[in-house]
Amino acid sequence: SRNPQLNRLLGIDGLLTEDEREVQALVRRFCDDQVRPHLPTWYDEATVPARELAKGLGDLGLLGMHLEGYGCAGSTATTYGIACHELEAADSGIRSLVSVQGSLAMFAIWRWGSEEQKNEWLPRMAAGEAIGCFGLTEPDFGSDPGGMRTFAKRDGDDWVLNGTKMWITNGSVADVAVVWAQTDDKIRGFVVPTDTPGFTATEVTKKMSLRASVTAELSLVDVRLPADAVFPEVRGLKGPLSCLSEARFGIVFGSIGAARDSLETAIDYAESRTVFGKPLGGYQLTQGKLADMTLEVSKGMLLALHLGRLKDGDGVTPEQISLGKLNNCREAIAVARECRTILGANGISTEYSPIRHAGNLESVMTYEGTSEVHQLVIGNALTGEPAFR
Ligand code: FAD
Repeated sequence: SRNPQLNRLLGIDGLLTEDEREVQALVRRFCDDQVRPHLPTWYDEATVPARELAKGLGDLGLLGMHLEGYGCAGSTATTYGIACHELEAADSGIRSLVSVQGSLAMFAIWRWGSEEQKNEWLPRMAAGEAIGCFGLTEPDFGSDPGGMRTFAKRDGDDWVLNGTKMWITNGSVADVAVVWAQTDDKIRGFVVPTDTPGFTATEVTKKMSLRASVTAELSLVDVRLPADAVFPEVRGLKGPLSCLSEARFGIVFGSIGAARDSLETAIDYAESRTVFGKPLGGYQLTQGKLADMTLEVSKGMLLALHLGRLKDGDGVTPEQISLGKLNNCREAIAVARECRTILGANGISTEYSPIRHAGNLESVMTYEGTSEVHQLVIGNALTGEPAFR
């Protein structure tokens, strides 16, 4: 934490390695210099300079940082988690840019792509010179992606794609889209350069959440791709789900970053605001709130580190990641909302971070598996009774 008292109480820094602390400091400095000062404006205007940011994040080695080779940094999963935590302490939208680039688009190509696909895209994506997006969700299919209607039809050696993808992060700024589609042989993944004729991306407006992040609808009308545009091996939902597990892992760390930043803001505010003749922080009701929120930030961070150490060790299961995603998103949004109350009227202004974080976390609770879906995943793991349908 940036607040010394909170930092001492949490005692998290002592659990981090030298490398992890270096990345923490690096990302914090980048956010302080290049992100935080602009957030109130970006949020108000619902704009974000995604290209410039991608370049800066690429220069720091944060894009696809947990992948090996092809210009990627090859860091541990926990180090990647720490980076997500610091990015989301600035804004969930910035962390989303990095998650979608590294854990969804790049990971999909890295894990399932051909050697040619990897060589063509990964080095440029790692450098932030090319932006990627990941098209799984459709207007009528989110939690149940198996129902998707986007279809890729064989035509000679070519593939011809038709369909619509909705809520796609980075969609209208992307150079390449990983698009999942039904085929005559199960769901398969396609690497689609966004300048292919028939591909259009339209930005989603009127968002009350993740306003400093680009969200788009992708339309594919007779998008003709060569035979080698498909991921060669993977079939079925296993492909996209493997990528979602990676991105969810980052959210376990990230969401607690948003909570931590809200809490730091609330502590500062409570110290400086005088009500009824003494500092707000001197009242028992305020201290009760701050104490309870510190418990959740502390437990959430320990859970994140636990899952990080598992992932870097013997491995972490998707169900364990669901546990972290469900808990940390749920507690983070509760903390951000409670912090907002401490700021009174100032709490509703984007000049202060809590309401921005609370608004953002509405999306974070919904994407990468809603809270309900993660409850069902955990319920299934505990009982062996799948209750999804
Ligand atoms: P639905 O699936 O229609 O769910 C509606 C409600 O029903 C939810 O409360 C849900 O929990 C509940 N529900 C669903 N199934 C069950 C069940 N079996 N039992 C009980 N309740 C159930 N998608 C991408 O592919 N790529 C992206 O980059 C991307 N970025 C996003 C960015 C933002 C800002 C947002 C908001 C979404 C993004 N998404 C993206 C989409 C996101 O993953 C979906 O919105 C999410 O999976 C939920 O799907 P849905 O919105 O269709 O809701």
